[in-house]
Amino acid sequence: MTQQRTLAYWQQLATTVSIEGRAYIDGEYRDARSGETFDCISPIDGRLLGKIASCDSADADIAVANARATFNSGVWSRLAPARRKQVLIRFADLILEHQHELALLETLDMGKPISDSLSIDIAAAANSIRWNGEAIDKVYDELAPTAEDQIGMVTREAIGVVGAIVPWNFPLLMACWKLGPALATGNSIVLKPSEKSPLTAIRVAQLAVEAGIPKGVLNVLPGFGHTVGKALALHMDVDCMVFTGSTRTAKQLMIYAGESNMKRVWLEAGGKSPNIVFADAPDLREAARAAASAICFNQGEVCTAGSRLLVEESIREEFVAMVAEEMKAWQPGNPLDPNTNIGAVVDQTQLNTVLSYIEAGKEDGAQVCGGGAQLHKESGGFYVAPTIFNGVTNSMRIAREEIFGPVLSCIGFDSLEQAIEIANDTDYGLAAAVWTSNLSKAHRAAKALRAGSVWVNQYDGGDMTAPFGGFKQSGNGRDKSIHAFDKYTELKATWIAI
Ligand code: NAD
Repeated sequence: MTQQRTLAYWQQLATTVSIEGRAYIDGEYRDARSGETFDCISPIDGRLLGKIASCDSADADIAVANARATFNSGVWSRLAPARRKQVLIRFADLILEHQHELALLETLDMGKPISDSLSIDIAAAANSIRWNGEAIDKVYDELAPTAEDQIGMVTREAIGVVGAIVPWNFPLLMACWKLGPALATGNSIVLKPSEKSPLTAIRVAQLAVEAGIPKGVLNVLPGFGHTVGKALALHMDVDCMVFTGSTRTAKQLMIYAGESNMKRVWLEAGGKSPNIVFADAPDLREAARAAASAICFNQGEVCTAGSRLLVEESIREEFVAMVAEEMKAWQPGNPLDPNTNIGAVVDQTQLNTVLSYIEAGKEDGAQVCGGGAQLHKESGGFYVAPTIFNGVTNSMRIAREEIFGPVLSCIGFDSLEQAIEIANDTDYGLAAAVWTSNLSKAHRAAKALRAGSVWVNQYDGGDMTAPFGGFKQSGNGRDKSIHAFDKYTELKATWIAI
C-alpha cells in the first residue's frame, strides 16, 4: 500500500491532518487543569505542529479517579471475555481504518520514515490489540491438586487501575503492547505517552471509545515525566505501573512504588545488544546486511538495536568493510518520502547526545569507517549519518552506554568463550544474535547469552506469540504473548470445603 503513495500525497495530508493535543479523560478531550501547554515540534524540519496539554498531578488525580470508578462499576472489568474480545477487534479495525492519519502523526511527531510508520508501527499496534483480544477468551484458570474434601480454585483477576508510561521511539506500538493485555484482562488505564511523541496515543483514545470501550476505561495524559509521570508513579490508587523507557527512569519508578503503595512495577528498559558473527556464518553478505539494518532501522532508536557488533578476528577487517558498504544504503532523507529508510532523530537533545558519543568514540581511539557527522542542517530538522566504528574495545563508552542512535561499535573476538564473555559484559540483557553454521555452537551461545531474546542467523525476529523483555538492567516482566497477562492480573486462591 505504501508504494502507491507518494511524497506529495503525504505532504498534502500533512497540511490537513488535525493535531489534537489535549488530554483524554472519561471519554472527552480536556485541557490540563492548569491550562499549561508545551510545544510539539516536528524533528523533520523543526516546525511547530501544535500545543500539547501539560498535565500534572491534578490531572492524574482526576484520571485515576475516573479509571477507578469505571473499574469498580464492572462496565468493562466484569464483561465476559468474549465481549471484550469483540470490542478489541473492533478497536484494532478502527486503528487500521485510520492508518494513514496515524502513520502520518507518528512520522511528523518523531521523525521515523512514513513507510515504517505505516507498515510496522501502526500495523503492529493494531495487531497487538487484535491478538490480545482474540486470546482472552481462550485462557483458562486452574484447579489445585487438593485433598478430596477441598476444591482449590486458582483464578486470575484484573489488577485494577494500570498506569502506563511509554517512550517516544515506537510511540503507539509501545502503548499498544501495554493496552492490548491490560484491556483484554479487564483493567482501567491511565496512559502517559512521551512528551516527545504524544500525538497517536491522544488520537487512539477516542478510537477506543468509538470501538465500544466504555468511557473512563482508557485515559491519556500527555505531559512530562517529572510532573504527570511522577504523579502517576507515586499515586496511591494506581495498582500497577507498566513502563517502557530508559533504565534510569525504570529504577526511579521502583523507588516511587516503594515510597507509595507498593504498586506492581513492570519495566522494559534499555539495551546494548551484542550481534555476534562467527567466521562460519552461513552467508556473510546476509549477516552484513542484517548488521547494518540492526543499527540503522528507526535511526538506531531501538531498544534492541544491534549496537555492539562482535566479529571473529579472522574475518573482522573484511566483514566490517562489508557492513560499512551495506550502511551506505541507509541515507537519512525526508521521512515523508515513502522511499526513505532512515529519517530524523527525535529532537535536538537526542541529536546532541548521538553526536557527543561519536566524539567520545574518536577520543577513545576507535576508528570511524563511515558516517560520523550531522546531515541536512539546512532543513531545520535533526539528521545524523549512520556511523560505524572499528577497533572498539568493550570498555569504551560507545560500547558500554546506550546511544540510541545509528552508531555501531565493532569489536573483535577469538573464540566462542571470549565472544560470550564480551557479549555478557554489560549492565543490560535485552537481546543478542549469533551467526554460525554450526548447530552446536549456536545452541551453546544461545544458552550462555544473558538476554531475553536470542536470534540465530537473523536479527530482530519475533511476533506476538513470544514474550519480549530483558534480563538484568533491561527490565523485568515481559510484553507480548500470553505471558504478558501475568502483569495485568492478580492470582487468587479460593478454598471451598466440600
Ligand atoms: P525515558 O526513560 O526518558 O522516558 C520514558 C517515559 O518515562 C516518558 O514518557 C517520560 O516522560 C517518562 N518519565 C521520565 N522521567 C520520569 C519520572 N521521573 N517519573 C515518571 N515518568 C518519567 O526514555 P525515552 O528516552 O523516552 O525512551 C528511550 C528508552 O526506552 C531507551 O533506553 C530504550 O532502550 C527504551 N526502550 C525499551 C524498550 C523495551 O521494550 N525494553 C522498548 C523501547 C524503548
